[in-house]
Order: sequence, then C-alpha cells, then structure tokens
Amino acid sequence: MYKKLFIPGPVDVCPDVLKQLSRPIIGHRTKDISALQESISSKLQKIMFTDNTIILSTSSGSGLMEGAVRSFTAKRAAVFSIGAFGERWYKMCTANGIPADIIRSELGQPTTPEMVRNVLSGGQYDLITVTHNETATGIENPVGEISKVLKDFPDVIFCVDAVSSLGGAYIPVDEWKIDVCITSTQKCLALPPGMAIASVTDRAIEKAKTIPNRGLYFDFVELYKFVHDKAYQYPSTPSVSHMYALDFQLDRILSEGMIARSERHLEMAQRVRSWASKNAALYSNPEYLSVTVSCITNTLNIPFSELNAAMGKRGYLMSNGYGALKDVTFRIAHMGDNTVEDINAMLADLDEVIASFR
Ligand SMILES: *Cc1c(COP(=O)(O)O)cnc(C)c1O
Repeated sequence: MYKKLFIPGPVDVCPDVLKQLSRPIIGHRTKDISALQESISSKLQKIMFTDNTIILSTSSGSGLMEGAVRSFTAKRAAVFSIGAFGERWYKMCTANGIPADIIRSELGQPTTPEMVRNVLSGGQYDLITVTHNETATGIENPVGEISKVLKDFPDVIFCVDAVSSLGGAYIPVDEWKIDVCITSTQKCLALPPGMAIASVTDRAIEKAKTIPNRGLYFDFVELYKFVHDKAYQYPSTPSVSHMYALDFQLDRILSEGMIARSERHLEMAQRVRSWASKNAALYSNPEYLSVTVSCITNTLNIPFSELNAAMGKRGYLMSNGYGALKDVTFRIAHMGDNTVEDINAMLADLDEVIASFR
C-alpha cells in the first residue's frame, strides 16, 4: 500500500514528474539526448551555484561516492565521519584498496574546521571527504567554514556528500570551492531513485588523469570526457526516462527558486524540531541541525515500530534510527516537495496516534 513518505529518501514524487517517465525512449547517441543532457546540466549548475562540469550517473549516489575516492586519491584520503554515511565512504576506500583514515566525531556532533586543520597539517592527505548532511543523526556540517580551512591546503581535493541535502539546503558549490559535490535523485530533488549527480572541477579531473586504476563505470575522467569531447553524452546507456523527469523537475525547482526552496526546508525543519522538543527530544547538537531530516530520541515510551505501524494505518511512513541509533531514535524527513502544511497534517495525526497509546 502506498504511504505518504516522511523517510529521508526515497521521497514522494509529483504526479506530473512521474508522467515524464512514460515518455517514448530516444536513442542514447542522438543530438536530442545531448540537448537534454545539456539542459539538465545548465539547470543543475544553477541549483548548485556552480560553473563546474555536471556528471550524471545511472546509479544511486553511492556509485559516484565510490568513483570519487577511486578517481581522485593519489596519496591518502582523510574521511571525516559524523555517522553512517561517513562510515560508508571509509568502507568504499578500504574495499578498493585506497589508503585512507577515518576521523570520527562523536555521534550527534559535526566535523569542525579545527579537526580538518589538525588532520591536514600533517601533510599526508591529498583528498578529504565530508558529509554535508548526515542522514543518520540529522546534522548539517559547517561546510562553508571547513572550506575556509582548505584555502591553506590547495593541493587537497575536497569531496562532499550532499546526497540528503542538495536541492533542499543552500549549497553554493563554487563559493565553498567544492571539487566534487555528489547527490542522488531520490532525496531533496524529489525524483524517483536511480540516478546520481555530481559537479566536478577541472583541476580535480587533471589530477585524476595521473591516477591509475580508477575503475571504469564510475571513472570521473571517462564521465567528464563524454560531456566535453562528445558534446553532452554519457559513456554507457543512461536512464533516458530519469533524464526526462530530471529536466522537468529542475524547471519546477527553479520556478520555486533554490533560495525559496531552502527557506521552505528550514520552515519544515523548524516545525518538526519544535514538535520534537515538546514531545520527545532532538538527538543532535542543536547548533548544527539539518534542514532536511530530524533525528529524534524516542522518549515516548512507545516502541517506534508500533508507532510507525499505527501511523501506517493513517497512510504515513516515518523512519527508524539508522546504524548505531536504530533503536534509540527515529527520524522524520522534511525534504523534497513536501510543504509545511503536509508536515502540520502529519504531526496532527502523530499527536492523535501517540494519545491513543496513553
Ligand atoms: C542516502 C544517502 C547516501 C546513499 O545514497 P544512495 O543514493 O542510496 O546510494 C549517501 N549519503 C547520504 C548522506 C545519504 O543520505
């Protein structure tokens, strides 16, 4: 049965966007598909506030995360982890034989600029990864502040996981000098799962060209070449259907305006935060809360599985905790095309459901 999604991806997709998936397929080496990919790229550049090259990948975001550490690490990667998705990036390094160290923050806390400076001042790293928005704890890292530290380490490639925030939070890629900024379609962009997106700098690509064993399917040099040398093409066969939906949805996002969209996300977040503070407790450091997902400590004395089942009967799906926080927290996402009214309606039902347990 369909339930309205308040989980941190996948999220609900507007029916007009879903219709785009049923358009007739066109050839993947045609001028028409190049025009479609170029159109998508120029719209994404606006949403990401960047002039960098846009790479598409028929995979979820994890594919490009793995491709990034393979493509851009020559010496050693410093993986800053504030939860489950930092751990994943570290696993991608070790699984590929990429020399890497993981620098963990306490759960519920951010990566700080001081941590980054301390780690990089040793000089052994040439790539760092930072999670912009940790979906497990509902923390938004101070990426803008971290980017100021990186001015002193110009040879370090800066990779950012913005999977659960891009298209919801304000992420000025060029101002923050992010070399590789990665997202997926199924979170704040409010599209079906199945495609990933990254922006990449020319200097990162120049470096990647000197690195052996980058793999092939997620090799950023290969993906970049097909954009530049083949006039907006893709090395293998892309999900043409997703590309139609993406192009259409990006127009909707741009007509709302990326700034207005990020303000709407903040407003939804504030509504959920105030509910959580009143009825339970927010898990994470209040100074770094995510605008796209809230991680709530379950102080309700109701097992979350029962709460979610009762909400399910009313047509809603929320999310349990992730990883180490599976049983102590639950999560409410406020991302994508949902509105403050949607959040209010869901919270009103949640209040009634909680009352029914008392
Ligand atoms: C969902 C998520 C991922 C994984 O993305 P997929 O598209 O499922 O591969 C990575 N990082 C963060 C922060 C996420 O929320």
